[in-house]
Amino acid sequence: MTLYVYKFGGTSVGSVERIKAVAEKVKSAQDEGNQLVVVVSAMSGETNRLIALAKDIQQQPTDRELDVLISTGEQVTVALLSMALHQVGCEACSYTGGQVKILTDSSHTKARILHIEDQRMRSDLAKGKVVVVAGFQGVDEQGNITTLGRGGSDTTAVALAAALKADECHIYTDVDGVYTTDPRVEPKARRLDKITFEEMLEMASLGSKVLQIRSVEFAGKYNVPLRVLSSFAEGQGTLITYEESEMESALISGIAFNRDEAKLTINGVPDRPGIASKILTPIADANIEVDMIIQNIADDATTDFTFTVNRNDYLRAKKLLDTTCAELGAKKVSGDEGIVKVSIVGVGMRSHAGIASTMFQALAAEGINIKMISTSEIKISVVVDEKYLELAVRTLHSAFNLDQAK
Ligand code: ADP
Ligand code: ASP
Ligand code: MG
Repeated sequence: MTLYVYKFGGTSVGSVERIKAVAEKVKSAQDEGNQLVVVVSAMSGETNRLIALAKDIQQQPTDRELDVLISTGEQVTVALLSMALHQVGCEACSYTGGQVKILTDSSHTKARILHIEDQRMRSDLAKGKVVVVAGFQGVDEQGNITTLGRGGSDTTAVALAAALKADECHIYTDVDGVYTTDPRVEPKARRLDKITFEEMLEMASLGSKVLQIRSVEFAGKYNVPLRVLSSFAEGQGTLITYEESEMESALISGIAFNRDEAKLTINGVPDRPGIASKILTPIADANIEVDMIIQNIADDATTDFTFTVNRNDYLRAKKLLDTTCAELGAKKVSGDEGIVKVSIVGVGMRSHAGIASTMFQALAAEGINIKMISTSEIKISVVVDEKYLELAVRTLHSAFNLDQAK
């Protein structure tokens, strides 16, 4: 008997009709003799609606209360899906994360899964029931409700698949697989039959929100066969795999981008040991994640120091940097919230020279100014003005021959 964990995202359960369609799909998989655990997200838009409600009451609600609030979206969908399954004659039982129980640490709004109890699910499965589990949520040692970060239902699904040693984990969404880039930005994007964990991890962490980063980490670590497919159309989707052979010929597998970036610069800092740490320690202490960092030396023994943070953290980071600037006697702090990061990703980059120059030439030919650059073994990222996002993605997509054949 094959055990599958299926996950349906917000759009896939966005209306009563769609929930009924999911129930039909699950029923037919069960009728074929498979065991099923189904993870669902909140109905599309619901998590955002709940966050907006909270912000109408308090600008900075505590993360604990926020978690109590935003976890309700998924509780609605598990109940509705379970009812829809009953309606088509399928035995099913719905659970919240806490009921399962999915034990997490206590970092509200970005909790990490520590342990999953599988007895209750196994006993339901043994009785022929479909187990329906709320994505995105868990419970900490003290019994507080926690959530796993935006897009966290992907991680719930993969973690359940790992805990239950499922044969495959299927992520059903509103696209029919992982594409060379977001098909909403570049309609010529191509669906990939396979992508390596390493590349998928890089794509996800560079902004491709088709899978939450942690779900890919989890799948890689516990060797969970993971597939991204469409809820609405038949097809093989994209398999995330360890195999590289098929992709070795492709230099670049995909293009990722992130709109949530902001850049901060502190100019004219005295150039002496310990400066980087003086600048970044207060930022780290405030739990603000720093992404790219650039330091440049000027002629007059001072240095300019630039880094990027999430746009949500921009104002807090700027305030901290203003204080540091005064303390260090630096010249000034400037910032830019209107930037984006565009990245090319591919394991083929390791063994090929000249990728960076192709990238920079292509951008230059379109008059796109590069503000920052960062590289690793399998990616090159550039920061550009946000008005160039679409143009940059399409230009690079074509420069690296990723466009769909007509
Ligand atoms: P769900 O609600 O099902 O979790 P998401 O919105 O989180 O769906 O993820 C699916 C979306 O990810 C797609 O609609 C697409 O716009 C976006 N996306 C970004 N990059 C890619 C990519 N490389 N391939 C496919 N989809 C991508
Ligand atoms: N509902 C949550 C979100 O919108 C989790 C998810 O959809 O995966 O981020
Ligand atoms: Mg998602």
